[in-house]
Amino acid sequence: MVRPHVYEDGGQMKSEIVGYDMDEEGDRVALLACGHTRHVRHDPPFVYREWVTSEEGRRKYLGVELDCVKCENDEAREHDRGV
Ligand SMILES: [Zn+2]
Repeated sequence: MVRPHVYEDGGQMKSEIVGYDMDEEGDRVALLACGHTRHVRHDPPFVYREWVTSEEGRRKYLGVELDCVKCENDEAREHDRGV
């Protein structure tokens, strides 16, 4: 995964998963408490996220905090990059 540079001292923005959606390509998207969305793909051998492929797994991950890249970007710059 290519990650944007983030602050080293715990400055990452975290947000809970509150639900799920799918994008137009059928990729699973997590809805975050902050109002942003984040892709949660299971795409081996690059990304292993097997829980996302089952209903039960997704339910288990509700409330789990993910880094929200969009929140991080919002901190760094004013506008969304249209991602
Ligand atoms: Zn966010």
